[in-house]
Amino acid sequence: MGEPPRHLLTIEGLAPPAIAHLLDLAESYVLLNRSGRTERDMLRGRTLINLFFEDSTRTRTSFELAGKRLGADVINMSVAASSVNKGETLLDTAATLNAMQCDLLVVRHAQSGAPSLLAQKVDAAVINAGDGTHEHPTQALLDALTIRRHKGDFAGLVVAICGDVAHSRVARSNIHLLVTVGATVRVVGPPTLIPAAIAGLGVTVFHDMKAGLAGADVVMMLRLQKERMARGLVPSAREYFRFWGLDAEKFAHAKPDALVMHPGPMNRGVEIDSALADDPAHSVIREQVEMGVAVRMAVLDTLARSRALSRNV
Ligand code: ASP
Repeated sequence: MGEPPRHLLTIEGLAPPAIAHLLDLAESYVLLNRSGRTERDMLRGRTLINLFFEDSTRTRTSFELAGKRLGADVINMSVAASSVNKGETLLDTAATLNAMQCDLLVVRHAQSGAPSLLAQKVDAAVINAGDGTHEHPTQALLDALTIRRHKGDFAGLVVAICGDVAHSRVARSNIHLLVTVGATVRVVGPPTLIPAAIAGLGVTVFHDMKAGLAGADVVMMLRLQKERMARGLVPSAREYFRFWGLDAEKFAHAKPDALVMHPGPMNRGVEIDSALADDPAHSVIREQVEMGVAVRMAVLDTLARSRALSRNV
């Protein structure tokens, strides 16, 4: 695997063996979590700081749980209550955290590239928990783990990523990962929400749901990210649902055993129909959340080990 990784900032550039290693390790943590046991010696004495400049429910909670199940001391820095609101810059925040001897720094920021800037300034291992519209690496890993558990091999699988691709870091990380492991990736959505350059990442673009879903093994829906839209790119929620929302009629074009995925939070009735989101025969949305904890344990474990190696402790 070459040099052990110091940070997890992007999926882009991660080689298939590194991805397989993280997924295999996460699989062992799924079993551990289901057994109700913990591995508290793994990160004993290590400090993990969750630094979230943007809202999060699943990601922040699951990093917290992952850290605690491995025995780390976990601190959640609420930005609303921090000096950032008093005008402290990102780099001052980095210097402050550095002085606290933090080992693992989980960062979410509205600005693409903020975690990699921090990674250059702090000694801690930095994990990108979502930066702007750029990447969300642990989401792609947990999605891949969920898909692998149901479908086995990635080679030849057809994955349709649908909706607001333009504003989705989840889409970008998933595209990098799935293309790297040999899946066929389609992106499906209105031209206003599909960036022209996306085809350069090795995907096929569809501007029609039925054609895009035809024969798909996995249908991954994305949230309509209104908070990142400078102007109205979609007519109305109702119109959007009619053309781009996943309902039984559109889903019928996918394979009969296709999976329904969504990273959350869901806008029910906008990008996905409630009945499908909750359909136990196809929806793996809850399982994605479970896999999130296991994947984050695997990432923390891997980065803590390579940090110990590089510091010789
Ligand atoms: N939770 C995911 C993210 O932070 C997806 C979303 O917000 O729609 O990117």
